[in-house]
Amino acid sequence: MENFQYEVESWLDIPPDSGFSMYHFPYGICAREGGLPIACSAIGPFVIDLVRLYDEGFLDGTSVRRETLTGRYLNPLIASGKRVTNGLRARLQRLLSVSTGQEAREKLRNALVPATEVQMLLPVDIRDYTDFYSSREHATNVGTMFRDPDNALLPNWLHLPVGYHGRASSIVVSGTPVKRPHGQMIAQGAEAPHFGPSRLLDFELEMGFVIGKSSELGKPIPIEEAEDYIFGLALFNDWSARDIQKWEYVPLGPFLGKNFASTMAPWIVPLEALDPFRVEGPEQEPEVLPYLKSPGKKNYDIHLEVGIRPEGGEETTVCRSNFKYMYWSMAQQLAHHTVNGCNVNVGDLYASGTISGPTPDSYGSMLELSWRGTKPVQMADGTNRKFILDGDTVTLRGYAQSGHIRVGFGEAAGKILPAE
Ligand code: CA
Repeated sequence: MENFQYEVESWLDIPPDSGFSMYHFPYGICAREGGLPIACSAIGPFVIDLVRLYDEGFLDGTSVRRETLTGRYLNPLIASGKRVTNGLRARLQRLLSVSTGQEAREKLRNALVPATEVQMLLPVDIRDYTDFYSSREHATNVGTMFRDPDNALLPNWLHLPVGYHGRASSIVVSGTPVKRPHGQMIAQGAEAPHFGPSRLLDFELEMGFVIGKSSELGKPIPIEEAEDYIFGLALFNDWSARDIQKWEYVPLGPFLGKNFASTMAPWIVPLEALDPFRVEGPEQEPEVLPYLKSPGKKNYDIHLEVGIRPEGGEETTVCRSNFKYMYWSMAQQLAHHTVNGCNVNVGDLYASGTISGPTPDSYGSMLELSWRGTKPVQMADGTNRKFILDGDTVTLRGYAQSGHIRVGFGEAAGKILPAE
């Protein structure tokens, strides 16, 4: 089996700012017009047709099975295990490296499809979705706005990664329009609620991780094994209707203010592609319970940003944050999620919670950026935003870079359509 290399040249001309570099090889599902869904990867401006590679014999010896590449979702390929999927990534890197001869290059070109010629589909059959609340800055901002600035964090927050079970059925792939939801809400000072379209529609900048290995009911995942269960990461926008959320959330938490839609990027970035970007997380004080102790570099330095483009207008970047700010790591989230014996399945999705940084331009939601509507955000076209308007397209982007090694996350974009 090949090993992944960190000094390698391609026979293809890949722009240096491409997130789909020789050190990446993400996984997705795409379809050509009128064609069936196929598993794919990406290099530069091309999508790599993995079925074609298989049929040409280029994947011989990798243990990849053809039937795991031809389904509607990546779940069967993911379930093959990291040995198979990382072997496949190493093979893709070698095939596209200068060590490949001319004749093979010509054949390989047939498996490279311009990304503009395919439609990217929701990559994973997501059976369960959990959303955490793991950014200290975000939890502090929200606690300051809605409760007490001196006691912004609730007593449990520094002791466990707070989370709730979300809704998997309404997770959509980037590019899918999202309709402004209706719901019940209460006006300031009113005695009774009213029903109507949400007026405080928001995005949440999050990172999701996809489970790559199922666990057994009744058996917690020890924290030192947690990363073995993480297949990869994807950008995730947990759309939120703040007015609906505020009225409904007591005492059981988020419900219809959250479950009308969440937008996921089409590319799953394998956890191993992020090895060069490991960093230590923030210091945890007070000390966490033993089952949550996880020394070492368990956070990841990934630049994140959010742009808002009004209908027919120019995009404004409203937020620049970083995944490294997370207080609770993915390993801690997974260890906590399963410590009571709850099992996980291949394809489950776990989202980080809004990723806010320490400075006001790094806040990961309009709620925080506009400080509950009191500080409107200036847009390039001269308008301003407190929350998201009809016709706005919200796009999450992300990349990690260390020297010449660049790994991009693509986009998670969604346009808001008016309520009917
Ligand atoms: Ca959230």
